[in-house]
Amino acid sequence: MIPKINPESSIDPVYLNYFNRLKDANFLGDIEYSYSSRLAVATDNSVYQRLPQGVIFPKNRDDVVLAVKLASEPEFAGLKFAPRGGGTGTNGQSLTDWIVMDLSRHMRDIRELNVNERTVFVEAGVIKDYLNQQIKPHGLFFSPELSTSNRATFGGMISNDSSGQGSLKYGKTSQHVLTVEAVLLDGSLVTFGPVSGEALQAKMNQENMEGRIYRTVYNIAKEKREEILKTFPDLNRFLTGYDLKHVYNPETDTLDISRIICGAEGTLCFITGARIDLTPIPSYRSLVVIKYDSFDSALRHAPVLVEANALSVETVDSKVFNLAKQDIVWHSVKELIKEVPDKTMDGINIVEFAGWDNELEGSRMKSLTDSLDRDLGASGNTRGIIGYQTCTELKDILAVYAMRKKAVGLLGNAEGDAKPIAFTEDTVVPPKHLADYIQEFRALLDSHNLTYGMFGHVDSGVLHVRPALDLCNPEQEKTLREISDAVVALTAKYGGIMWGEHGRGYRAEYGPEFFGSLFVELRKVKAAFDPGNRINPGKICVPFGNDTDKLVSVDDTKRGSFDRQIPVEVRHSFRAAVSCNGNGLCFNFDKTAPMCPTYKLLGDRRQSPKGRAGLTREWLRLMQLDGADVLSEEKKLDESGFSLKAFFEKVSNTLNGDNVNDFSHEVRNVMDCCLACKACASACPVKVDVPDFRSRFLNLYFSRYLRPAGDILVKNIEQVTPYMAKVPRLLNAVNGLAPVKFITKKLWGFVDVPVMSYPTFNTLVKSTDAEYLDLDRMNGLSAEERGKYVILVQDAFTSAYDAKVIADFIVLASKMGRKVAILPLKPNGKVMHIRGYMKEFARAARSTADFFNQVYGLGIPMVGIDPAMTLCYRDEYRKILGDSRGDFVVQLTQEWLLDNLDSIRPVSAEKAGHEYYLMAHCTQKSLKPTTHADWTRIFATAGLKLVPVPVGCCGMAGLYGHLKANVERSKEIYRENWAPVFKKYPIEYCLATGYSCREQVRRMEEKNVLHPLQVLSTLL
Ligand SMILES: Cc1cc2nc3c(=O)[nH]c(=O)nc-3n(C[C@H](O)[C@H](O)[C@H](O)COP(=O)(O)OP(=O)(O)OC[C@H]3O[C@@H](n4cnc5c(N)ncnc54)[C@H](O)[C@@H]3O)c2cc1C
Ligand code: SF4
Ligand code: SF4
Repeated sequence: MIPKINPESSIDPVYLNYFNRLKDANFLGDIEYSYSSRLAVATDNSVYQRLPQGVIFPKNRDDVVLAVKLASEPEFAGLKFAPRGGGTGTNGQSLTDWIVMDLSRHMRDIRELNVNERTVFVEAGVIKDYLNQQIKPHGLFFSPELSTSNRATFGGMISNDSSGQGSLKYGKTSQHVLTVEAVLLDGSLVTFGPVSGEALQAKMNQENMEGRIYRTVYNIAKEKREEILKTFPDLNRFLTGYDLKHVYNPETDTLDISRIICGAEGTLCFITGARIDLTPIPSYRSLVVIKYDSFDSALRHAPVLVEANALSVETVDSKVFNLAKQDIVWHSVKELIKEVPDKTMDGINIVEFAGWDNELEGSRMKSLTDSLDRDLGASGNTRGIIGYQTCTELKDILAVYAMRKKAVGLLGNAEGDAKPIAFTEDTVVPPKHLADYIQEFRALLDSHNLTYGMFGHVDSGVLHVRPALDLCNPEQEKTLREISDAVVALTAKYGGIMWGEHGRGYRAEYGPEFFGSLFVELRKVKAAFDPGNRINPGKICVPFGNDTDKLVSVDDTKRGSFDRQIPVEVRHSFRAAVSCNGNGLCFNFDKTAPMCPTYKLLGDRRQSPKGRAGLTREWLRLMQLDGADVLSEEKKLDESGFSLKAFFEKVSNTLNGDNVNDFSHEVRNVMDCCLACKACASACPVKVDVPDFRSRFLNLYFSRYLRPAGDILVKNIEQVTPYMAKVPRLLNAVNGLAPVKFITKKLWGFVDVPVMSYPTFNTLVKSTDAEYLDLDRMNGLSAEERGKYVILVQDAFTSAYDAKVIADFIVLASKMGRKVAILPLKPNGKVMHIRGYMKEFARAARSTADFFNQVYGLGIPMVGIDPAMTLCYRDEYRKILGDSRGDFVVQLTQEWLLDNLDSIRPVSAEKAGHEYYLMAHCTQKSLKPTTHADWTRIFATAGLKLVPVPVGCCGMAGLYGHLKANVERSKEIYRENWAPVFKKYPIEYCLATGYSCREQVRRMEEKNVLHPLQVLSTLL
């Protein structure tokens, strides 16, 4: 039995007192200091880990003022803060030991859109892609681009002065910020923007913090101008913290403090919002994807491409796109980046032409492709070009960029313990030196025998490199330091800088060397804003006058030093939880994307794949420190039977008040919310499969505590359901009685129990030519006779609650010239897996797999109707049974139909009149990314038009939506994701592949939606 575990770290009483006082002071946002909340913000995408004292989530700018003002009271004068947005920083910029002020949860308001002037005000927590989605109807967008645009906030983008693809034309964030609204450390709310003349004088004459800031920055910017111009490199990517070069315009004597805030990495003030300028959406966009025989060829060709007046040139090496090929994302680009026959593609350049003059941009693209044709046609082509493809459809362009944007995350999916990590991942050198610089960079990495993937914005000289290191090995931490120092020197040699795009963070220690005598001026700027070193201390610089505090260092405490406390076998076994690298893709705001429904609904980072992985990691570590060997605990559970002693121990643990602080409860809370929809298992670049480690956690957790009563039903539901399905009318009547509903809810924890099918499955089958499979008889048939059959693999739920779908499958198969042989029901076990009954699941999987392997030997296709149940045979079965699972294949309905397209005849024109709308099950879309394309093709073969609808989860996810504890969440997810679809499309033409999804629609809309096979069975 696992022990009770206590979180290691306690909260400083002064901080606790502050949180309590803040609560009493009418702070409208959230104040959280549970261990799980603190852990959720202890990491970002960097290698570092810091546990804060707590997290505050202001609701609005008044909350920020309130929090800062309270912190200026004498008893709280020593309190320190770090602002945080999406937490996607790659160098620990938002990590702190003190208070995290997270402005991303609530401060998401967009206001004062002025379409004519092309400006808008965004609160600090607004996500860039969300803004662009809102203003798209006005033909506008915020142009600086970044890979994390679907989760990074304006607060973070301003503070890191973000930019990316297209930066030569679209610039950096700072170039589009008109004014910044911020709360200073004295609690005042100010707006910084360009000021000159009398207004500037008035600002400087103020006897307050704002006045001091104006005076200090003005004097430095003016007096040190020459030195500033000499020190700041002349690069498209100017650097973060503090931009003394652009803060002052000597020609107009204008001071714009917002330019200092941009790139300050949250070390000067709390940004509450900003007025930004917007750009018209280009009317023309096209891409040329050029393929090369080597990465070097791609790099050396880049300057020629920039000369072609392209918007951007991005280079990707073969390591990165080989990883992309193994990811779900490849499915959307494989036709756009095809292999070149008989050639090895070892690098690509993605060249974009975009603008508002279609003819001009079109001609630019044409002259590039003409020159590529000449290069390809010429004998002795020396550029290493082996082919190219173009795309002009917006959806294709976006698909290529989605692949490119996912590239950093994909690097984290490398095999083995060494993982590509961020610490030299955004160097910049003048573009003309890039190829030579990279050669030396590669030699450096090769001399340490490191693997790496590379890609970058070659038009502006930015290179993204993540060398693979295993930071659980202390020796590799030393390698990190050596390489880091060497890269600083190498970038300096080529006139560049180490932090060219993602900010400085823990690389702040290189600041003094880089800035030389100017560094003291940075410290004076910091002192004007933050003399007490209270906001994001240690980053960028320490305030002038403070000689005790230190800068953060590359050598500071890394996540590896915690992870290495988990035994290596456990790390390997829980690979998914341990390898989450915090890139934050699971915080994607987009409701039509499958990942992650619970995070999107609750806005709580703990309730995301990253949150769940982080808590599991910490739980494994604390288990180990408490002397519990998780793997042997699992083994013991596998081997043990029911024990009265163990039962009474569980009763006692559950009732014992001393156990309320067990950290396992916090982990369970986040696991209970998860729908097990599996979106993370495929959409996360490193395949963090939460349902997998969640089941293992629950298995262990319930070895110590009592399960909810409903779990007993869940465990046996597949056995019991077929018996209940024999008397559907009786059961439906009983289940409809108010007292029964009450007991079902109170005792078992279930609500809205679905109605059983009447007529029953057996009755419906009797009216068809299907037969129940007789293995001996089938074995006796000739191969030709068997070829006429298809085997239907039933699942308990579809057969009992949606029997008509199965009957319709039989009709469809018959129309396609096949006879259906129905397999007897065998437990699938998915529900046991979800509730963490691992031993029972393994047993069910073993027995079912043995039987299915025998049936598979007949050589007749086996088909399942429900996607989640069918995919369980491929996924969970493989994980639990390993090689002993055998080779049996249960096809998804769409897979079988695709294999038999020649048996589908087009329907008459009269029947083909309608358009249908497909809403596929999320597990199916995740594990079978071709689902939409497959069904569209099947319908097209039948002469029918099918439109796939991009929707997130329906909220039902098997039993999840029927549990009392989840029902409100389940309904809310439905209202957010599915309900709007039925406002847009007529429900009678909407189709859903999942039984749970159809059940959820029945519950919420009181209407039936069909499975797509039912349309075919009716119309064919
Ligand atoms: C996979 C990956 C790809 C990336 N690609 C790019 C890229 O293409 N281009 C690019 O520029 N960056 C990139 N980044 C880095 C990062 O995503 C960006 O810098 C992003 O803008 C950070 O935004 P955030 O909301 O996540 O900020 P956070 O990480 O939360 O914070 C970043 C900094 O901003 C400060 N901050 C946040 N909010 C506030 C506020 N309200 N007031 C004051 N300070 C605040 C924090 O203290 C911290 O110093 C990438 C990161 C990852 C993981
Ligand atoms: S769970 Fe996946 S997507 Fe989310 S932060 Fe971790 S690695 Fe990134
Ligand atoms: S299974 Fe679904 S709900 Fe659970 S963490 Fe993964 S994406 Fe989120």
